Amino acid sequence: MTHSRNLATTCVRAGGQPEAHSNALVPSICTSTTFAQVSPGQSPTYCYGRTGNPTRSRLEEALAELEGARYASTFSSGLAAVDALIHTLDQDAHIVASQDLYGGCYRQFTKLWSRFGLQVTFVDATDVEAVRSAFQPNTRLLWLETPSNPLLRITPIAALCALARERGVASVVDNTFATPILQRPLELGADIVLHSTTKYVSGHCDVLGGALVCDDPQLAERIRFVQNAAGAVPSPADASLLLRGIRTLHLRVERHCQSAAFIASTLESEAEGVEVIYPGLRSHPHHEVARSQMSAFGGLVTIRIPGARAEVDRFARATQLWTLAESLGGFKSLWCHPPTMTHASVDAAERERIGITEGTIRLSVGLEDAGDLATDLLEAIAAIAATHSTPRATNKAVLA
Ligand SMILES: *Cc1c(COP(=O)(O)O)cnc(C)c1O
Repeated sequence: MTHSRNLATTCVRAGGQPEAHSNALVPSICTSTTFAQVSPGQSPTYCYGRTGNPTRSRLEEALAELEGARYASTFSSGLAAVDALIHTLDQDAHIVASQDLYGGCYRQFTKLWSRFGLQVTFVDATDVEAVRSAFQPNTRLLWLETPSNPLLRITPIAALCALARERGVASVVDNTFATPILQRPLELGADIVLHSTTKYVSGHCDVLGGALVCDDPQLAERIRFVQNAAGAVPSPADASLLLRGIRTLHLRVERHCQSAAFIASTLESEAEGVEVIYPGLRSHPHHEVARSQMSAFGGLVTIRIPGARAEVDRFARATQLWTLAESLGGFKSLWCHPPTMTHASVDAAERERIGITEGTIRLSVGLEDAGDLATDLLEAIAAIAATHSTPRATNKAVLA
């Protein structure tokens, strides 16, 4: 990992200077919603809890430093960060967005912001020409998410952000799946990095959060204005938990990546009939792009098992170590079934068209022993195969 040495130090230290009054090593959770002012009309560092809070400042400092930027604003969830970014645009703005976007972003664009005049063109962002031809005179933002959910498609950040910049269009990369440990969108030419800190940054499945990180002071100012004016800020306790998550982010991500790579290659060689999608595998269609912009390939693995709903149910019953749940990036291994969960709102024909088949399973590889996780998966997959052909034969026999 090219950046790991610097980033490990940043994870441990960023936003962590001892507190001035107590020398406390861990920033305290400042619960105060208001702050005493010396005289009217001055603008003190902190005046009101929505506008600014010392615990939140530490988190924002750390996230900015991690992404190699000057500014970060944090929000009560990832979708609140998405909402804040759209709020910085003028009415009737147009966005070019990657077509396999996180479902919640898709819903917010199409069901919520469309009512206020936002126009969005969804494109296959792995295709640079498709992105180029989607730009319009009123395009204000290029929205990328890579690796994508759940098919882990990789879009070329540098090429696309350069394209946007040529046209004076700002670009944002949702870096939730990759984390700043593996992928550095601002260094690749993006203007804004978005995070759902709920996932890897927290890492412990116990706090929601979102962040917008950028290096441009005017953009940062607009975002901070919305943060205060719309008000979807994280609580100081949430900020403290997220800051604690950052202290071990590098270690966790490294292990997530090692285990995911092990599981992906084990399944690819040993699970017959199962298609394995992992950007670190040579068989991945965008493996070379992934190598060029990521220092390792992340903790998510997607598989397509033969069969459909019944087979997925058998998998569900057979697995012992994988928990069926929404979300990702935590300490515990989770699996989800995109067709009925994250992508249930996408209609079935469209799902099949983009490759989210009924047998698609997304794995968020946790911090358990990789061997245990792989063995459990192989057993669960074998259990599908074992029951796959026999029951129908048995039924027939009974009916006869
Ligand atoms: C979870 C997620 C979001 C939304 O974040 P919340 O914290 O759930 O609001 C946005 N983008 C991606 C890629 C996500 O995984």
